[in-house]
Parts: sequence; C-alpha cells; structure tokens
Amino acid sequence: MKFQPFFIALLATSFLFAQEHSHQSSRALDFPDIPGYKTLKTDLHQHTVFSDGNVWPNIRVMEALRDNLDVISLTEHIEYQPHKEDIPHPDRNRSYEIALKEAKDHDLLLVHGSEITRQKPIGHNNAIFIKDANKLLVNDAEDSFAEAKRQGAFVFWNHPAWYAQSPKGNPILSDFQKERIQKGELHGIEVINTGDYSEESLALALENNLTIMGTSDIHGLIDWDYVEKGLTRPITLVLAKEKTMESVKEALFAGRTVAVFNSLLVGKKENLVPLLNASLKFEKVKYIDNTSILEITLKNVTSSDLIFENQMPYTFYSSSPVFTVPAGSTKTLKIKTLEKKADLQIKLKALGAYIAPKEHPIVSWNIRLKE
Ligand SMILES: [Zn+2]
Ligand SMILES: [Zn+2]
Repeated sequence: MKFQPFFIALLATSFLFAQEHSHQSSRALDFPDIPGYKTLKTDLHQHTVFSDGNVWPNIRVMEALRDNLDVISLTEHIEYQPHKEDIPHPDRNRSYEIALKEAKDHDLLLVHGSEITRQKPIGHNNAIFIKDANKLLVNDAEDSFAEAKRQGAFVFWNHPAWYAQSPKGNPILSDFQKERIQKGELHGIEVINTGDYSEESLALALENNLTIMGTSDIHGLIDWDYVEKGLTRPITLVLAKEKTMESVKEALFAGRTVAVFNSLLVGKKENLVPLLNASLKFEKVKYIDNTSILEITLKNVTSSDLIFENQMPYTFYSSSPVFTVPAGSTKTLKIKTLEKKADLQIKLKALGAYIAPKEHPIVSWNIRLKE
C-alpha cells in the first residue's frame, strides 16, 4: 500500500496525541464490552526487582498504560529474593506501595498481590487482593494459603504445566491442590503463562470449576519479551460489572474471564461466546447488482486477529471457508445465498478460540438485509 502525505500527517498527529495525553501506544490492547459487563484487560502476574524481576515497580505501571490495561498486580515471590543483598526490604508490601504512587494518577487499578513460591507439588501460586504480604511469609504452605484466605484473597495456580516442576510439561493435580480447592483456598489456574498455552490446564480448570487465567509473568521488559517479537502480552479479560476493585474481585471469584494471547482466546463458553459476538461488526451489507451474492464487510473491533470457519449452509465466492479478520481491520465476504434474503444468520466457528481442549465455539449473528 502506498501512503499518501495526508495519511502520514494523520498518523503522525494521532501518534503525538496518544503520547501527550494517555501514555497509550500503537500496541494498545482493545476488547469490546459485552451486554451487562465491562471487559477489563488485566495482567495479574508480574515481577520487579523486589523479587526476581529486572525493573523498578513504576515501569510496570507505565508498560500497562502503554498497553491500555485496566488492572495489574505485581506478584513478587514472597520467599525467593535474589536481589536481597542490594535491595533489602523486610517489608514485602514495598513493591505494591511504590507502584501505587505511580498508578494513582491514572485510570489503572493496582491489585495488591504476592506469589507463594514452593517446590512441587505445591508449586507457585498467586494470592491477589491481599492486605499484608508479610503475613504470607510462613513456613508451611498450608498456613500461607490459610492466611491468604483470611485476607480475602483470590488465589490462582501459576504455570502448573511448567517443565521445571513437571518434566512432561503437563500439570499434575496433587492432593495439595485438591485440599486447597475443597477448602476454598484455590480459585483459579493459569492456562496461558508467558508463551505457553496448556490444554491440560484448561481441562483442570473446567473439571474443578477454577477461573481461567492468562498472564505475562513478565520479569524483563514487555517490549523485549513480546512487542519486539511481534507478540502481544498474555492477559486475562475480566468481565466485571464496573471498573472497580470490588467488581474485578467479584468477577474473578465468579469465573467470568477469557485468557488471551495474540489470536488465541480461551474461556468458558458463557464468557467467550458473548465476547466474540461483540467483537465483530457488520458493515456495507448489500447484494451485488443482478446477483444473489451478498457482499458483507466484517469489522474486527479487537486487538486480536480473529480466525473463522464458515458454518452457514451457503458457500463463499472468492474466499476460503477459513479466513482471518485482522485485528482492528476488516474482511469482505461474498456469500452465495442462492436467493435474495430478508434476514440472514451469519454462523462461524472461531478457530483461534477454545471453550474446552480442542473445542471451538460457534458464534452466530442475525443480520437484517434491507433492499
Ligand atoms: Zn512462578
Ligand atoms: Zn511469577
């Protein structure tokens, strides 16, 4: 495509505008609200120099603003402190407090969290919405989980498929997790951590009614680990009644989430289908003159490429039945409806989305066709 001077000027202006007013950059993540709920973009697993990360907490806030996130949590390993010689901090709440100073001037919710870090079979677990991280620093992991529950925390099992703790790369649900679930001390599970999507973790989430989570688990810079590689950071979309701490917490306990990594979307059917429904808009619906071929433009309003397969009784003219609607862009289909219709049900299988291992959701939209 050739850029006209006008478009270059327009791009330059919008870039400057974004820089001056919102910290947001060209890689901003976007997802539409669904009926009854706000779709909040969250990354609830991140590290700084206050555990084994490489940046100061305020950098995490600025990255989140650039990515257009709504909610973040800095979840320092409470026990693992490799920078302790240089950054001694007997108060394990410091990372949160420093980040809060940066976040409070912006429309970004900062959730107080911590990573309870143990050997297998306990593994790593994030407790978020805690009140005092210091109290989680106790010998027995059981006591740490009990304390998190006392503080009203939402707790999720991190990277259960991590090969350092599970050499086959598959999660193993041990008696420890079973007991925590049964006691109401474990509520969610990461199905996407860093670049890894685990179908086995998704199966565990569905079998045990755990909230589906996706996180970056960032230690370095989002730019280096994701953006420069052409990737977007893994996030959890939280379907909340409002953009408040209480609503985010309520939605997490209720399991209203979708984990997202690039074009991969993973969630329970009741969450993922309405999200996909809201993600496509239909424009320029019209029959080609003197034909029964319906031309329709699909607009993807999200920051993820959406991949679909045709599930309608009609076939396409000049398009594969499998097609992509690029992030923030459009795709025009020519549907051979055989006769001119007054209404049409668009029915597509979302091939980049999963509601269970190997199971894609089917999404439909009813379109009114006017002459
Ligand atoms: Zn971890
Ligand atoms: Zn971590």
